[in-house]
Amino acid sequence: MIVSGGVLSGLGKGVTASSIGVLLKSAGLNVTAIKIDPYLNSDAGTMSPFEHGEVFVLDDGGEADLDLGNYERFLDVTLGKDNNLTTGKIYSKVIESERRGDYLGKTVQVVPHITDSIQDWIEDVAHVPEQGTNKVADVCVVELGGTVGDIESAPFIEALRQFQFRVGSENICFVHVSLVPVMGPVGEQKTKPTQHSVRELRGLGITPDVIICRSKTSLTEDARQKIALFCHVESNAVLSASDVSNIYKVPLLLDQQGALVLLSQKFKFKIPVNRPLLDEWMSMAIQIDDLDKEVCIAMVGKYTGLSDSYLSVIKALNHASIASSRKLNIEWIEASNLENNVAKTDPEIHADSWERLKNADGILVPGGFGDRGIEGKILAAEYARTSSTPYLGICLGLQIAVIEFCRNVLGWKDSNSTEFNDNTPHPVVIYMPEISKTHLGGTMRLGSRRTIINDEKSIAFKLYNGNKNIHERHRHRYEVNPDLIESIEDAGMKFVGKDDTGQRMEIVEISNHPFFFATQYHPEFKTRPTKPSPPFYGFLMASSKQF
Ligand code: GLN
Repeated sequence: MIVSGGVLSGLGKGVTASSIGVLLKSAGLNVTAIKIDPYLNSDAGTMSPFEHGEVFVLDDGGEADLDLGNYERFLDVTLGKDNNLTTGKIYSKVIESERRGDYLGKTVQVVPHITDSIQDWIEDVAHVPEQGTNKVADVCVVELGGTVGDIESAPFIEALRQFQFRVGSENICFVHVSLVPVMGPVGEQKTKPTQHSVRELRGLGITPDVIICRSKTSLTEDARQKIALFCHVESNAVLSASDVSNIYKVPLLLDQQGALVLLSQKFKFKIPVNRPLLDEWMSMAIQIDDLDKEVCIAMVGKYTGLSDSYLSVIKALNHASIASSRKLNIEWIEASNLENNVAKTDPEIHADSWERLKNADGILVPGGFGDRGIEGKILAAEYARTSSTPYLGICLGLQIAVIEFCRNVLGWKDSNSTEFNDNTPHPVVIYMPEISKTHLGGTMRLGSRRTIINDEKSIAFKLYNGNKNIHERHRHRYEVNPDLIESIEDAGMKFVGKDDTGQRMEIVEISNHPFFFATQYHPEFKTRPTKPSPPFYGFLMASSKQF
């Protein structure tokens, strides 16, 4: 199933596509996904999260677009780096083959070489069995990033046009997601942008089987008929994806309009009478709307207005809030505004930031790079530790907690990470030796690694259900200095989880505190709507005093 987008970006194409995936799954099919990003980067690893949104990390260490996270969470599958296809990856592959002489002296061109390579890639990846099994997916959802008509996506559109002949029309379904804006005082839904984008798509040789219209309110019958007429589709194949109170309702919304029936006619499968998966989504969607007791979490980070830069953390908090029956309220706190110098330059902002921090039920310091706001994060960790406020530190948030502890409990005043001060007399967080400092792309400790929990009395042991071996995903270059572990532990900070070698600190806890928990790994990448990530669950239970 190919999902393209028209009119403008940011339509929620990923959510729409993964929602259809949920419907296919609810019919008992195995579903996998591929996200195509037409940019030239090989992967999202070197892209700024403040420009592009979060870099999502996969088990195999792939650094991908955040949409892969949507697919993993919605479809409850584990994807790999090949499930994210970029222009950079395809061109590298073709150029490599050319250098090897695979093309036997032929002129290497976009058509057919790039387009063939794209089709081969999709076909190969769609047939990779689900991790740890030999089950091959029945359906692969392929989402084409960007907007139809972009120069960058042209080779992909052409490849997908050809693909319908490779696999046969009964094995491919084109879904186009478009926008229906409302104009004028009477609030008329306008179909022209959709008509134009479908015309563009058809001009490129692809006729959509289904058109999904994003709009504020549900599509009027008039608008639906008009789109069907002008866009060469049946009116029952024009679906409305209007704004909903929570995204878990999107699969239900599409289901009510017969989306699965359309797909079952195309792909020739039977829809079972009972679909427990959909029932589960339904009760979750209703439950979220009904939550009344609130829990307030202060997110102490670096902001530029794009909340997508912490998308998985927000999802993990959301899932954990559902499981702990609380309505989530996130207070965004710019870390640098907590710093003492701001008290002089901008006293109001400083006071307001502190007030919001102190009013929160829990404090979270998420992952990050670069030194802006570091001192503010250290102050936030100190406040959490000394006021018995629940604290969750992720990756940088763990390093911050260790620096704070060493400065204020051990009295090593200048403790720091060598990431922020190369000459610190107390390098409590140091650079991992095996990693290159000169090449930023793909030079981190990345992907799934084992953590061994070494203390049966720890919070970690309890949260991970008594499991001593856990696997979580990583993305970092620095680590707690192994030479100082003994002194730090003697002062009361415990490293209750370590890697296979025992040299790398993975989980930190402080005794005599209701919940002070930090991980070097990023637990947020493995959260699921009905299976929240254990550290987040513990954090929300502690923040709502249920732990
Ligand atoms: N900058 C830190 C490191 O590289 C933390 C990274 C992160 O939080 N993902 O180790």
